[in-house]
Amino acid sequence: MAAITLSFPDGSKREFSESVTPEAVAAGISNSLKKSAVAAKVNGILVDLKRPIVQDAKVEIITKKNDEAVQVARNTAIFLLGAALKQKYPKINFGEAQSNNDGFYLDTDKEAPQVSAAELEDLQAIMGRLIKANAPIERKMMAKDDLLAHFENDPYKSSLIKAVDSVQIPVYQLGDYMDWGIAAMFPKASDLKHYHLLSVAGAYWQGKSSNPMLQRIYGTAFLQEADLAADLKRRAEIKERDHRTIGRDLDLFFVDPKMGAGLAYWMPKGATIRRTLERYIIDKEVAAGYEHVYTPILMNVNAYKTSGHWDHYREDMFPPMDMGEGEMLELRPMNCPSHIQIYKHHIRSYRELPIRIAELGMMHRYEKSGALSGLQRVREMTLNDGHTFVALDQIQDEFKKVLQLMLDVYHDFNINDYSFRLSYRDPANTEKYFDDDEMWDRSQGMLKAAMDELGLDYYEAEGEAAFYGPKLDVQTKTALGNEETLSTIQLDFMQPERFELTYVGEDGQEHRPVMIHRGIISTMERFIAYLIEMYKGAFPTWLAPVQVNIIPVKSELHLDYAQKLQEQMRKLGLRVQIDNRNEKMNYKIRESQTQKISYTVVIGDQEINNATVSVRKYGEDQSNSEDSNMFIDSVVADVNNYSRT
Ligand code: ATP
Ligand code: ZN
Repeated sequence: MAAITLSFPDGSKREFSESVTPEAVAAGISNSLKKSAVAAKVNGILVDLKRPIVQDAKVEIITKKNDEAVQVARNTAIFLLGAALKQKYPKINFGEAQSNNDGFYLDTDKEAPQVSAAELEDLQAIMGRLIKANAPIERKMMAKDDLLAHFENDPYKSSLIKAVDSVQIPVYQLGDYMDWGIAAMFPKASDLKHYHLLSVAGAYWQGKSSNPMLQRIYGTAFLQEADLAADLKRRAEIKERDHRTIGRDLDLFFVDPKMGAGLAYWMPKGATIRRTLERYIIDKEVAAGYEHVYTPILMNVNAYKTSGHWDHYREDMFPPMDMGEGEMLELRPMNCPSHIQIYKHHIRSYRELPIRIAELGMMHRYEKSGALSGLQRVREMTLNDGHTFVALDQIQDEFKKVLQLMLDVYHDFNINDYSFRLSYRDPANTEKYFDDDEMWDRSQGMLKAAMDELGLDYYEAEGEAAFYGPKLDVQTKTALGNEETLSTIQLDFMQPERFELTYVGEDGQEHRPVMIHRGIISTMERFIAYLIEMYKGAFPTWLAPVQVNIIPVKSELHLDYAQKLQEQMRKLGLRVQIDNRNEKMNYKIRESQTQKISYTVVIGDQEINNATVSVRKYGEDQSNSEDSNMFIDSVVADVNNYSRT
C-alpha cells in the first residue's frame, strides 16, 4: 500500500507507510492523547477512532475538550438507546436517527402499543446498566449482503442499508445489539456519562404522511454534568412558556393536522381572549381615525394579477377555485386589494386624506408545512390590518401616527422586548419585487429618514421587504428562540399605480395617493401566541378568559349565594364561573391556580353571614376576606385598568 501523508492542525505533517487508524495516530503523538482521544476529524468529517485513513488527509484528534465531542456523546447515546430498546423489545424496528445541535433522536416501531413517554425512565435506566457493564463497542466491517440478512425483519433498516452505495459497511456491536454506519462514537460505553431522554412524538417514516407513523424518541447528551443540567433547565423553561403547551393545558385552541395543518380551532376560552382583543383594537383604531370595514375573503383572481400578488406571491397562495365560465376565485393572502376596492368606490378629494381603512381581515397563506407552529404560523389567519391612503406630503406624519398608535398598544400590553427592523428588497434578487429601482430607492430612503428623525434604533435587513415596498417590522422572540415579526408598517407606491388610484387635489387635478399598509397587533393568531408566551398563560384580568372562579364550600348550603354573586358580576360584564363539581375543596383551589384564573373566591357560612368573600388573587399565596361589593368593585377597576402591574 502506498505511503500516506497526514497533516495536523499545528501545520505539522507525518508520513505513514500504509493505512492507519486515528487511534494509532494519537498513540504515535503521545500516550496521553491516545487516552483522551474520543474521535477524529478527517478532512473535516467526524469519524470514530478505528476508522482507517487510507489517503493523504488533514487529521485532528478530538478529545472531550473539543466542542465536537458533544456530537460523539450524542451518537453514542443513540446507539445505547437502540441497545436498550432492543433489550426490552427484541422485535423492535428502527427508522432514522440523528444527532444535532439540539440533542438527538431515534425513530422506532415496536408495533402496537408504540413506545410511550412513560417508558423513558425505564429505558434510561437500562442505558445506565449497559454503561455500567462497560462492554467495549466493537467496530467491524461487514458485507452489505450479510448486513441485509441481519436486518431482514426490519423493513426500515433494510431500506436504509439498500440505499448505501458500498459493498463493505462499518458496523458497531455491543453484546448482540448491532447498528451500522453511525458517525463517530465513544470507544467504550462508559465514556457516556451525562445524557437524558426527553420526549416521544410521532414521526412519519421518511417524513411522508402516506408512510407509517413511527415513534421518535428525543434525548440529549453532554460531556459535563453542569451543561446537561443547564440544558434541562432551559427546556423546562421553554416548555413552561411554549404557547402550544399552555394552549393545550388551558384549553385555549388546537390544531388537528387530520382536519387541516395550520388551521386553528379556538376553544371558548381562547375565543374569549381573541374577542376581547378584537374589541380592544377596533375601539383603539376607531378612536385614532380609522374606519372599520368588512370585505370578502374570496376575490376574483384578476385583482391579484393587477396587484402583483399573482406574479410575486403565488407560491404562498392557495390555488384558485375554478367556478366555471372563466370565473376564477382566489382565497385572499392579503387584504390590500380588498381595501383598494373600498377606496375606489367613491371619488376621493384631498380634503378626505388621510383615509384610514381597517379590518380584522381573514387571509389564507399556503405556508410550508415545516414552518407551521401552533398559532404562531398558521395557514388561516385574521390580520389586524389597515391601509392608509395619503398624499405624498403626508407620509412622514402618518408614519409617525401609526408608530405612536403601535407604541400605545404595546404599553397597554406591557410589551417591552422587541427591536425595529427596516426591511429592504434584496438588490441581488430583484425579480421577487416590483421592478422600479427609483421607487425602491425613494421609499427605502423615506422610511429610514422617518426612523432617524424619530431617533429610534433599528437594524436593516435586505431581502425582507414586501414585494410592493419596504417595511418597518417589529421583531420579537418566541419561547423557542425564533425571531418573528409582530407589527409592521409598510410604504407602497406600487399598488396605487397598478390600480390607478386617484384623488382630486386642491388644483382640481387627479393625483396619485400613496398607501401605508400596517398591522398593529399582527394576526390574532400570532399575537395571542405571543401573549400566551409573554404572560406564561397568566393573562391580566382584562384579558383572562375566566376572571373569577367561585367555589361554594357546600353545594346544598352555598350554591345559591354563589349564583347571586355570579349574576351580579356578570351584569357588570365580568367573566365568572362557579366550580360546583363534586371534588375536594383543596383540589378545586389548586386547579383554579393551575388554570391561572385571576381571582379564586370561596363561599362558606361565614362569608354568607357577613356578606364577604374569601378571595385569593392569582400568584398570591394568601386568601383575604373582603366585603363582597368592595371585591366586585375592585375586579371592575382591575379590568378597566389595562396596566397589569
Ligand atoms: P412573515 O415574514 O412572518 O412570513 P410577512 O412579511 O409575509 O410575514 P405580512 O404580509 O407583512 O407578513 O403580514 C402581516 C403580519 O401578519 C406579519 O407581520 C405577521 O405578524 C403576521 N403573519 C404573517 N404570516 C403569518 C402566519 N402564517 N401566521 C400567523 N401570522 C402571520
Ligand atoms: Zn396590505
